[in-house]
Amino acid sequence: MPPSALQGQVIPKMQDCGKCSLCCKLIEVPGLASAGEWCPHCDPGNPVGGCTIHSKRPSFCKNFHCFWRAEDWPEWLRPDMSGVIFESLPGVETVLVSVDPSQPDSWKEPGVRKVIEILRRKCRPVILRTKSDSMMFIPDGMGKDDILRDVRQVIDWQEKQKWQHQHTQQTLAHSI
Ligand code: SF4
Ligand code: SF4
Repeated sequence: MPPSALQGQVIPKMQDCGKCSLCCKLIEVPGLASAGEWCPHCDPGNPVGGCTIHSKRPSFCKNFHCFWRAEDWPEWLRPDMSGVIFESLPGVETVLVSVDPSQPDSWKEPGVRKVIEILRRKCRPVILRTKSDSMMFIPDGMGKDDILRDVRQVIDWQEKQKWQHQHTQQTLAHSI
């Protein structure tokens, strides 16, 4: 398993990230990089993994696994090829889809739309984030209160992540 991008612990059965490092661009790591900008520690496209500080990367990076990596999805859905990262948020059914600003229409591809629709039909709300916009795909029958509860949980989770990121970034700054 090469050291790559935000890939986490070495867990058998997870797919090899290969040349993909897209989470090092699309996922915010406060103190390191904003969402949509490459982390300064990333060497994008490196065939043996993009993270140049692999052994010292923050715990968030270690623990991050996109759906493609964790769910054994087909090759064409690998985020650097599809232009989208699907991720699951802890504690909520909602799926977050981040779109690569370099491939802004990638989420409109029929295959990607089909995955979004399958998730939606499985009663999993999908929040899609582009550089300038966000939208939600809501399962049939999901009420306003359920939606608001999910959105609140997503916001709470993001706030918690920010705090954790700041903490790990301080640790990282002392160790590099
Ligand atoms: S987006 Fe997924 S496949 Fe790509 S580097 Fe990150 S964890 Fe690996
Ligand atoms: S520290 Fe490494 S794994 Fe984490 S975002 Fe930066 S390049 Fe990616």
